[in-house]
Amino acid sequence: PSSASSHTHWHRVRQERNAMESRSRATDEKADGWRSNGIVWRNVILMALLHIGAVYSLLVIPRAKPLTWVWSYVCFIVTALGVTAGVHRLWSHRSYRAKLPLRVFLAAANSMAFQNDIYEWARDHRVHHKFSETDADPHNATRGFFFAHIGWLFVRKHCDVIEKGKKLDVTDLLADPVVQFQRKYYKTTVLIMCFLVPTVVPWYFWGETLWNSYFLASILRYTVSLNVTWLVNSAAHMYGNRPYDQNISPRENRWVTFGAIGEGFHNFHHTFPFDYSTSEFGPRFNPTTCFIDLMCWMSLASNRKKASVEIIQARKLRTGDGSYGEGLTD
Ligand SMILES: [Zn+2]
Ligand SMILES: [Zn+2]
Repeated sequence: PSSASSHTHWHRVRQERNAMESRSRATDEKADGWRSNGIVWRNVILMALLHIGAVYSLLVIPRAKPLTWVWSYVCFIVTALGVTAGVHRLWSHRSYRAKLPLRVFLAAANSMAFQNDIYEWARDHRVHHKFSETDADPHNATRGFFFAHIGWLFVRKHCDVIEKGKKLDVTDLLADPVVQFQRKYYKTTVLIMCFLVPTVVPWYFWGETLWNSYFLASILRYTVSLNVTWLVNSAAHMYGNRPYDQNISPRENRWVTFGAIGEGFHNFHHTFPFDYSTSEFGPRFNPTTCFIDLMCWMSLASNRKKASVEIIQARKLRTGDGSYGEGLTD
């Protein structure tokens, strides 16, 4: 009987060890998530089609009416504000306060941008700031330009992004009824703001063909605004100077500043993320800051947060690379 019981004992020990090993294998794979993660083919195909459509749109430009060009540019600016003044400076960073009518406008503009709803974008962006250049950063720039730019949308989120994202405080986002509404009706609002309104307005008001307005104000405008936003994650995390903190990757990139209506002062922004201007230079080179200032003047916004000159100077001397202002003048 003793040999039989010891046999079952060892059998049980072996079973437990196997179970443990397979459990630890599972967690290893999870920790190495981005390598074993599958490709999100839906996004790959949609982005490929979108970019082919955008290239085709270039052929449509000469055939369209000049008013349609102007309209497409207006749509681009509104789209950009929905990201920069809206989900970025207001909802992700709370760098100023906005009254209900302005929040409604910014949420509509954000649906025009079609870059995930405000709640998800802001949560991911807070993770990006808190865990920059680590696996928990959704567009970790240490994985190269392509990944930081668009590649991060082609693979499943790294488990660290999801885990760290769950631990962040997002109660302020959940408490905003505008954020709740936009999340609840996201698909409908995207259909209206990103595709229907840009396409129908030129057709209705100045007799543009639906084909031309669809490709210019919707497809081309959407593709350009996506790439401009992505340049902040890719180029502005790789190329440029670091006057405020040379120990972090984000940099001052004037080309990105120009395209992303004021969001290329990225070394400053990661050093002082609470600053509503995302730059030391206030409204200079910064249409988004001008817009927020205008909203304050119209009493639709208030409580702009700003890093003081003394704090900025002290920080430059302590951790900067000594290239004061060069990102703007060289
Ligand atoms: Zn930010
Ligand atoms: Zn960044």
